[in-house]
Amino acid sequence: MKIVIIGAGVAGAILAHRLHGLPGIELLCLERVGLGDHAEAGTGLNVGPNAIKALRRADPALAAEVEAASLPWNRWTTSLADGTVLADLPLPQVADNPGIRIRWSELYRVLRTAAGTAIRYGCTITGIGRDPARPGCTVVEWTQGSQAYRMDGIDLLVGCDGRYSDVRAAFSGAPEPHHIGAAIGRALVEDSSGGLIDDYGQWFNGDHRLLAFRVKPGHVYIAATFPTEPGAPVRPEWSTEAVVRAAWQPTSGKPLSAQMQWLLDAFCGALADSHWARVQESEPRFAEPDAGVLYLGDSAHGMVPTLGQGATQAMEDACAAALILEREIRAGSWDVRAWLATIEAARLERVRFVMALSVAATDTLLAGADPVAGTRWKTEPPFLADLARLYRDVALGDASATPAAEPVAG
Ligand SMILES: Cc1cc2nc3c(=O)[nH]c(=O)nc-3n(C[C@H](O)[C@H](O)[C@H](O)COP(=O)(O)OP(=O)(O)OC[C@H]3O[C@@H](n4cnc5c(N)ncnc54)[C@H](O)[C@@H]3O)c2cc1C
Repeated sequence: MKIVIIGAGVAGAILAHRLHGLPGIELLCLERVGLGDHAEAGTGLNVGPNAIKALRRADPALAAEVEAASLPWNRWTTSLADGTVLADLPLPQVADNPGIRIRWSELYRVLRTAAGTAIRYGCTITGIGRDPARPGCTVVEWTQGSQAYRMDGIDLLVGCDGRYSDVRAAFSGAPEPHHIGAAIGRALVEDSSGGLIDDYGQWFNGDHRLLAFRVKPGHVYIAATFPTEPGAPVRPEWSTEAVVRAAWQPTSGKPLSAQMQWLLDAFCGALADSHWARVQESEPRFAEPDAGVLYLGDSAHGMVPTLGQGATQAMEDACAAALILEREIRAGSWDVRAWLATIEAARLERVRFVMALSVAATDTLLAGADPVAGTRWKTEPPFLADLARLYRDVALGDASATPAAEPVAG
């Protein structure tokens, strides 16, 4: 049985690690970048408690390594730019375990190192399609260095190649982006805050939001949000100091809080290196069953970043797929269509819920938003129940989902 994974990012590296060495499997994971090249991953990630819960279940040793390379995410505070606290949520109120805060490059390093020789680096895909000789199978051609390779008769092809997935484009067509009406600029800065910035915080001024948290080693991740027309391009002036400082000048007339002052100074100092993207999502799709193709992570579902669920869901996807595939393979069940149906059944409804909640929580990023009202409903029981469902009810296609998740009083 030939299984090929395209992309060794968050989802691909986790899956490659778990499938590597399973009996009856010839596994290849082809990654575009070179070994040790995590340069494309410059900023920080807050990964939800649900991803850590899933990884602890699917791959406890890997979960321990990821947690050791990160800082725990235990608390979520929301304030105004002048320091007025709007919400302060201890995550144990809605989660069974902490999330994590980690440099993106560090997450890649840990996951790719664990997958070891299962990953082939520096691969350029030159051809991808259905196998004309074997219905239900696929063919992949690639180069690595000066060598050209081809594998045909692939029984399961897994697209883990991220947001602009060539695999999904080849078999299902590229998904249409749905723009929500905000753009985010991100930067990773050295932590000279003297302890002012640590766990996950958000600071609002009208419809502008700064988000920040500390990551190992000695850095702070900062993300600044500007509202915009859905689909409008990122505006160059958002990367200018004058515009950024004006956007977070407190509407209350009070001075900036000490935290905000440091964050603004640090973000303005890093504007030249900031990375900007529009907030968008795309229709989820997990499989192209008649071709034996599976999509996981961003290739399966573009996700708005408001609740930090992009990498988080990529981890849940990979854990679910790993557990299901391992169970089927060890049971001697080699029906790829049945595998795909089981994975999609485990994941699709869950991902739709996460996407809808992420969009609902984006209200405070949209033009004209009131951060006080927009934060208030997020402190009330219905939203807390949804957060508890998000963080506790991981959907792995096994017995791990805890049905009736309720927030714990506190
Ligand atoms: C700036 C930024 C900040 C973010 N912050 C957060 C956050 O705080 N929390 C969170 O949960 N999510 C966050 N996300 C989203 C998160 O990074 C993604 O959702 C996550 O990385 C998706 O994982 P993945 O495995 O699907 O794809 P990726 O991690 O993108 O991995 C795709 C892999 O495929 C490889 N690849 C691509 N094309 C090919 C090809 N043709 N051939 C071979 N290899 C290929 C790439 O090199 C890469 O290694 C953020 C995203 C961005 C851009």
